[in-house]
Amino acid sequence: MAKKQFKAESKRLLDMMINSIYTHQEIFLRELISNASDAIDKLAYLSLTDQNVGLNREDFAIELRVDKKLGLLTVCDNGIGMSKDEMEQNLGTIAKSGSLQFKQELDKDQTDVDIIGQFGVGFYSAFMVADTVTVLSKKYGEEEAWMWQSSGADGYSISPCEKTTVGTEVILKLKADTDDEKFSRFLEQYELQNLVKKYSDYIRYPIRMEMEKSRRKEVPEGEKDEEKEPQWESYTELCTLNSMIPVWMRAKKDVSDEEYDGFYKDKFFDYEKPLAHLPISVEGAVTYKALLYIPAKAPYDFYTKDYKKGLQLYSSGVMIMEHCEDLIPDYFRFVRGVVDTADLSLNISRELLQHNRQLSIISSNLEKKIRQELLSMQKDRREDYEKFFAAFGRQLKYGIVNEYGMHKEALQDLLLFWSAGKQKPVSLKEYVEAMPEEQKHIYFAAGESNARLAQLPQYQRLQQKGYDVLFMTEEVDEFVPRTLMNYMEKDFRNLATDDLDLSTEEEKKAAEAATADWKEGLEFLKTTLEGKIARAELSADLGSHPVCLVPEGGMSFEMEKYFKRMNPDMPIPMEKVLQLNPEHPAVQKLKTLISGEPERAKQYAELLYAQGLILADLPIEDPQAYTELVCSLL
Ligand code: ADP
Repeated sequence: MAKKQFKAESKRLLDMMINSIYTHQEIFLRELISNASDAIDKLAYLSLTDQNVGLNREDFAIELRVDKKLGLLTVCDNGIGMSKDEMEQNLGTIAKSGSLQFKQELDKDQTDVDIIGQFGVGFYSAFMVADTVTVLSKKYGEEEAWMWQSSGADGYSISPCEKTTVGTEVILKLKADTDDEKFSRFLEQYELQNLVKKYSDYIRYPIRMEMEKSRRKEVPEGEKDEEKEPQWESYTELCTLNSMIPVWMRAKKDVSDEEYDGFYKDKFFDYEKPLAHLPISVEGAVTYKALLYIPAKAPYDFYTKDYKKGLQLYSSGVMIMEHCEDLIPDYFRFVRGVVDTADLSLNISRELLQHNRQLSIISSNLEKKIRQELLSMQKDRREDYEKFFAAFGRQLKYGIVNEYGMHKEALQDLLLFWSAGKQKPVSLKEYVEAMPEEQKHIYFAAGESNARLAQLPQYQRLQQKGYDVLFMTEEVDEFVPRTLMNYMEKDFRNLATDDLDLSTEEEKKAAEAATADWKEGLEFLKTTLEGKIARAELSADLGSHPVCLVPEGGMSFEMEKYFKRMNPDMPIPMEKVLQLNPEHPAVQKLKTLISGEPERAKQYAELLYAQGLILADLPIEDPQAYTELVCSLL
């Protein structure tokens, strides 16, 4: 029979599996059992509405079979099974997002083989321990059964086969033992029993195995003889190896952190352990158990449309929905986990679920718990929180800005921004609490990088005053203070656009006088730079800089750039204001020239305007003219 080839990326993963000198080989069993359990989930779900399935909840089971003579280990299930096409799709390709993500991780760091040890690599892990893998499967509702077979990288074959019952059998022909590796251990009942306990205890269907046992031989009444040694006989018994209690159903005190983390990695295809787990048990208006996780890093598709938010929803141990979106608000969409409640009818439709009252009670409870957990992480486990925020902070900021700021109260305390003064991320509360008494506003600057922002003239001025500034470098950042408007009764002031409100009464008076003195000069600049600036004004906020360009009318240049990127054709003519530092020698020189040598003053004006552009990170409109101007002045 002609062999079919694996898809390229599957082949690579397969090669790694076959060749890995790999110490966690044993996880293959967990992977196969978890596939079997998923397949049963699907049929169990169908059986709720489809009488023809003919199986009850308690009929579903997974069975391990051992053939020591032939070196075979078989994992059987009576789940949904696979059609021929599905075998082709599922076993010939890596289709699963989890595996795909795994592959991407590999691309980043090819050498890190240990990654396999921590990650659910699925069906292919069978090739770590087996020479040949044979899958027999009959799909529910179909007549024919199919056999898939592969001895590794050289391809696979699919052919019809005999199988009377619906479900799947995965048969492993174990590799021969070597000096270093004993694959035959996977035929020992003791070993298998331990592996099931270790990795698959929570699987909610019985995992059964024929176990050899021995017992005292029954001796008929009359023949009993106290003197005689007791006689033993061996027998086999179909035993259930797992406790079948899902982690979320167990009492918190009985579950170790490792078990919680292991469950997460296994269930949600992450190789990194989560930053936090929240076991929740609620009795009341709605009774439910939940187990939520906060991942340590964003999945590769998190900020795309492909990412599916939602929690797994169970009704008394039967999964009824894989991604129940209504259980989690959008701004917490990074949270993974399960919710299990007996208060939902099993075959409730998805449409009805959306308007379900119990569900919305659960959802608002969970929202509060997540928020509390994050706040306490921020307080007590700062490093973890910063890691969390680096991964998901952007989502929280969108949460503030979206829906007209409806959720700002809930989210504002979770934010971190870069403190230029402390050189680390701080919360708004920390910022405000560290403010000197006389500081009236929360100062922030938005731009491309911290290094650039540190060069803002206004920043220098604030530094002199001993005021800290929050540097915002993400696109969404600047919309956050606009939405919040104020925090702890302090309003936000944007360094680039707002009045910094720093001057004393006396300084203000002096400024008025200076402005009067400069009246003619400011008019001159407005005329000279016509079409470039809306007007010129004096500013006391420029520190050691001579000039600065600020936008007229609230919106910052950063926002203008942002909107331009969103819609290149959008004409937002931003008018600029040229601010001058009257204390600066260059500006004083300009003033003298304006009254004495107006032609030269025009050149100085152009030059200072160009400086303003550079500082504001705006392009010089005519670089050649600018270069010529500089040269002519040299
Ligand atoms: P994953 O389990 O991460 O999806 P696998 O490589 O383990 O990836 O399995 C690929 C797919 O093959 C599964 O998603 C499932 O559709 C199918 N599959 C594997 N084992 C079984 C099984 N025992 N019964 C039915 N389908 C299965």
